[in-house]
Amino acid sequence: ARGLADLPAVETDSLLQLIALCNADPRPEKIDAGVGVFRDSEGRTPILKVIKEAEQILVDTQESKSYLGMAGDKRYTELLRPIALGRHAEDPRIAGLQTPGGCGALRLGFELIATANPQARVIVGTPTWPNHPPIIRAVGLQIVEYPYYDREAGSIRFDAMVSALKEGRPGDVVLLHGCCHNPTGADLSDDQWDEVTRIVVERGLLPFVDIAYQGFARGLEQDARGLHGLLDVCDELIAAHSCDKNFSVYRDRVGTLFLKTGSAEATARAMAHVSQRAREMWSMPPDHGAAAVRIVLDTPELKQRWPGELSAMRDRINAVRQRIASADPRLAYIGGQFGMFSMLPVSKEQVLALREKHAIYMADSGRFNVVGLSDAQVDRFVAAVVETLN
Ligand code: PMP
Repeated sequence: ARGLADLPAVETDSLLQLIALCNADPRPEKIDAGVGVFRDSEGRTPILKVIKEAEQILVDTQESKSYLGMAGDKRYTELLRPIALGRHAEDPRIAGLQTPGGCGALRLGFELIATANPQARVIVGTPTWPNHPPIIRAVGLQIVEYPYYDREAGSIRFDAMVSALKEGRPGDVVLLHGCCHNPTGADLSDDQWDEVTRIVVERGLLPFVDIAYQGFARGLEQDARGLHGLLDVCDELIAAHSCDKNFSVYRDRVGTLFLKTGSAEATARAMAHVSQRAREMWSMPPDHGAAAVRIVLDTPELKQRWPGELSAMRDRINAVRQRIASADPRLAYIGGQFGMFSMLPVSKEQVLALREKHAIYMADSGRFNVVGLSDAQVDRFVAAVVETLN
C-alpha cells in the first residue's frame, strides 16, 4: 500500500518560487515585476473605494449567511450581464452562474465540455496562461497547441493561428483570451477577431473565451468586442469571466461562467450539468466578493463611480507602457500591447542576470508586469533591461 508519505515531490510553480526569492532578497531597491496584480504608482494594490463602501453597506445590511445555492449570488450575475455580454445581455439562450474566480469558471466550463464531448480537442495558443493546460488536462481533454506569439518580433503569429484553427474538427474547442493576453500582452486586432470568428463558424468550433481583465485594455465595451462578435454568430459559446482584476478583489474569488447554446431549453439542461459539476467540486462559490460587486452595481452612485476607478488603473497601465516603449526602439512594441503583461526578448541567463545584478525579478519566460513597477522604479528597470539587451 502506498501512503501519503510516498508522494513524490511536486515541481513548484516557477512563479511562486520567484515570489519567494524576491521576498527573501534583502536589497531595498529590488523590483518585483513577476507579480500578477495591479499596483498603483506607489507600488500598492489598493482596495477600490467603491468596494470599501459596498463592503460597509454589506456589513450594515446583511441579515443572514445562510446558503445561497450552487449558482451563488444570482443578482450579481444578472447585473454583470450588460457589462460582460453587452448587446447580448437579454439573450435567453445565455445563462451564467457565479464561480470561485475566473479559474473556477474555466474549470467548470471544461468540465462541461468533457461531459458533453470527451473527444473534443482544445486548441490553445502558446504561450498561454500557465494554468490553462493543467486545467484542461485535469478534465481529461486533449490539447492541440499552436504558436501564438513571436517573442523576438514582438508580434502575433496570426498565420500559424489561422492554420491551426482551420485544421480544427467540428466540436473542437478554441480557447481565446478576451483581452489583455497573459503572458504576452498581444491582443488580436479587430480585423483578426473578425477573421477568427469567421473560421470558428466555418469549422464548427466551440469558442471558449477567457476574459479576466475586462476594462484593463481599452475600456469595458471595447475589451469585450471579440466576445460580443462571437456571440453575434455562434450558437454555442462558453465564457469564463473574472471580476477579480477589474474590481480588485483578487482573493475574494469573484468569477462567472456564461454559456450559450442554440435554445433556452438546451441551455437550461446544460446549466443543470454545470450545477452538478459545481456541487461535486466546491458546492457553492464564496459570497463576500460577489456580494460587494453586486452592491456596487446595484447602487447607482457606486455604479457610476466604478468606471472612474477602473480607468485610473487602465491609465496607469498604459502610461507605464508608453514610458517603457519610448525609452528604446527595441521596447517600442510594448506601447502597442495591452494589460499588465508583456514579454522581453531575453534568455533565461539574462533573466537571471537581471535578478542577480539589478535585483529585478521576472519570470524565466521574460514575462513581466508593467505595473509591477512603481513610478519611481520605471527608469531603473528600463536602464537595466536596455543594458541587458545591448
Ligand atoms: N485567466 C487568465 C488569463 C488569468 O491571467 C487569470 C488570473 N491570473 C485568470 C484567468 C484567473 O483569474 P481569477 O483570479 O479570477 O481566478
